[in-house]
Amino acid sequence: MREKQVLPVIVVGLTAALVAVIALWTLDRVAGPDQAASSQDGSVEVIEWKLVTTWPKGLPGLGAAPENFARRVNEASGGRLRIKVFGAGEIVPTFEVFDAVSRGVAEAGHGAAYYWKGKIPASVFYTAVPFGMTAQEANGWLHYGGGLELWRELYAPFGVVPFAGGSTGVQMAGWFNIRLNSRDDLEGLKMRIPGLAGEVFDAAGGSAVRIAGGEVYTSMQTGVIDAVEWVGPYNDRTLGLMEVGDYYYYPGWHEPGAMLETIVNAEALAALPEDLQAIVRVAARATNTDMLDDFTANNSESLQILLTEFDTEVLPLPDDVMDALYESSQVAIEALVNADPLAKKIAASYFAFAEKVRTYHEISERAYFNVRNRLLPPVSLTAESAE
Ligand code: CA
Repeated sequence: MREKQVLPVIVVGLTAALVAVIALWTLDRVAGPDQAASSQDGSVEVIEWKLVTTWPKGLPGLGAAPENFARRVNEASGGRLRIKVFGAGEIVPTFEVFDAVSRGVAEAGHGAAYYWKGKIPASVFYTAVPFGMTAQEANGWLHYGGGLELWRELYAPFGVVPFAGGSTGVQMAGWFNIRLNSRDDLEGLKMRIPGLAGEVFDAAGGSAVRIAGGEVYTSMQTGVIDAVEWVGPYNDRTLGLMEVGDYYYYPGWHEPGAMLETIVNAEALAALPEDLQAIVRVAARATNTDMLDDFTANNSESLQILLTEFDTEVLPLPDDVMDALYESSQVAIEALVNADPLAKKIAASYFAFAEKVRTYHEISERAYFNVRNRLLPPVSLTAESAE
């Protein structure tokens, strides 16, 4: 009996050895002999990271960003730093991503800073400020206006290093199952709306509810909420919100340039060789830019599909509703700034930059949009015009 088992054992042993040789050879080819960090015995050191996200696994747009980040790092490092991405709930649920990275349960994460506002009130400045800056403006503040340094200061006590992790551009105000005619219609309205905007919505008479992306469809369908803001045509269509919401209101006063974040455990980052740290930084920056490109292209495409295939009724928020939300936003921002010294410091930087860029954009972006709108045929938001 024993002898009969010898041959299969040898075959299995040889196969395993061959696989190992091929794997090492392939790795060497991928990494390149010049780039590969070798230990004393000459083997390539491979570092593996886990990246947890706040998004359902496989979600386009928001969920594509961490996948892109991981792929870029893997490719640029020649396989020396391998990042595996986990969707919401696979290791930790949506609202525990920051803690997981802080504690080193995962080395990296991707999500939205305002999800952590219970722990870090000033984090809202790093996702969205109601009636605040657009994506283009916020990126200017982050990378050339001191915003990122303040973000690093904000997260330092938690051992987390933040990077800009993409932007959706201006969002939609959301899907509503009642028609809004005046500010009175906000009274008692239950809406999924996170961040500082949730407090604004409460102050304006509504009732903000905190729900993760994976649950918004069912919450609308079952009437747990009357309204939901998620992102815009691209990601809203992915979640099927046109099937559960009657009216699609614009614009996203609450998230005029919602930023996302790529976060890294500070010790894990510091432990990397310097070239891999640089690769992480460059990949994060590339992912940040790439997400806005993705949303710009696919929001435009998905809007046409919503208009033509789903007859979505797209409406502007009435001025009276917008005025009420603006008034409430001023109260909410003031309360936040007065309650937290770091929020005050970040707000001073944010609003100083916002005011300067608003002045410039008055004679650049806005002036150009105005002239383009005057000269080109008017756009229409009905099915007929979109076809
Ligand atoms: Ca949103």
